[in-house]
Amino acid sequence: MAFLDLSHLEKSFGNNRVVKDFSLPVEKGEFVSFLGPSGCGKTTVLRMVAGFETPTAGKILIDGQDVTNLRPNQRNIGMVFQAYALFPNLTVAQNVGFGLKVAGVARAEIDKRVTEMLRLIGLPDKGPSYPFQLSGGQQQRVALARALAPRPRVLLLDEPLSALDAKIRVSLRAEIREIQRELGITTVFVTHDQEEALSISDRIVVMNGGIADQVGTPFEIYNRPTTRFVAGFVGTLNLIEAVAGPTGTAKIGDATVLLPEGHNQAPGGKLTLALRPEGLHLGHGRDVVLPATVTGVEFMGSVIRVDLTAMGTKFSLDTFNRPDAPPPKAGDETQVTFAARDLIVL
Ligand code: ADP
Ligand code: MG
Repeated sequence: MAFLDLSHLEKSFGNNRVVKDFSLPVEKGEFVSFLGPSGCGKTTVLRMVAGFETPTAGKILIDGQDVTNLRPNQRNIGMVFQAYALFPNLTVAQNVGFGLKVAGVARAEIDKRVTEMLRLIGLPDKGPSYPFQLSGGQQQRVALARALAPRPRVLLLDEPLSALDAKIRVSLRAEIREIQRELGITTVFVTHDQEEALSISDRIVVMNGGIADQVGTPFEIYNRPTTRFVAGFVGTLNLIEAVAGPTGTAKIGDATVLLPEGHNQAPGGKLTLALRPEGLHLGHGRDVVLPATVTGVEFMGSVIRVDLTAMGTKFSLDTFNRPDAPPPKAGDETQVTFAARDLIVL
């Protein structure tokens, strides 16, 4: 049985149903992300797990125990929010030890645990400092230490990185993942940032309008999206209108391609196919070749994003930089090519 088991959770505020039949088993030690646009219900699900909101329907089990109606402090859950939310008048050490003190843990044990936690987050000497003396990234690490100090069964992180600078965000997410692995703590991480979710998670739940649209590994979510919403929300997508042919084929322009296995639309019907920018290449030699005009080029360093039109449709293509070959320029007449196996059928 799953360590954290959310089953058929619903939440309404008045007539507004913001979470709809949300079910998710999470294994012990797993790192799961909720990814979705603002307002899709991520925080509400997290707050129900933490006990700050009561579900309108459904059940929450932790390690086999039904906690649906327990108060937050009875659930043994650690939580970190977007805003640092440290107590400004307490030192770092007092902040980290706060939950232990409230729980009546003995002083010597608190000191030991605080030292351990500060070492874990890489701030062993900051115990006597006050939050205002720390950078945003350091404050967020202290918030993490404070959440972890009581050894919670589950760790909940609600957009903990979104207030930080891009560079800190990237290094801190790797650090959070490392600490999570070291402790083996079951974690749910909320973000609206697709790259963050892809990079940090064992599994991602893509949410849309209070519903779990798709649940899968980062690889599955990116390469095998099952809905148009997931395909469009995670990563850049080229949409290709095609016509279904006989026995699992489709016609794109003049070319007939064999669709990935399991797709057998009625011949003659319209079909939307999709392709990631890295599945599209300049030149020829793959299953489909289309004449194209370059409309824009964005040089990003290791990757070059080339925008084109082909068959009257806009496409974006990613290609790696090559120091020996200058990138194409707007106005160039060229060809693009792709392999049928890289197509996503929506
Ligand atoms: P997310 O975290 O994905 O941005 P939320 O879970 O915060 O989304 O909110 C989902 C929806 O529920 C939003 O439309 C929001 O306005 C609404 N909502 C959240 N909390 C409350 C509340 N306490 N009262 C009324 N509506 C709420
Ligand atoms: Mg939120």
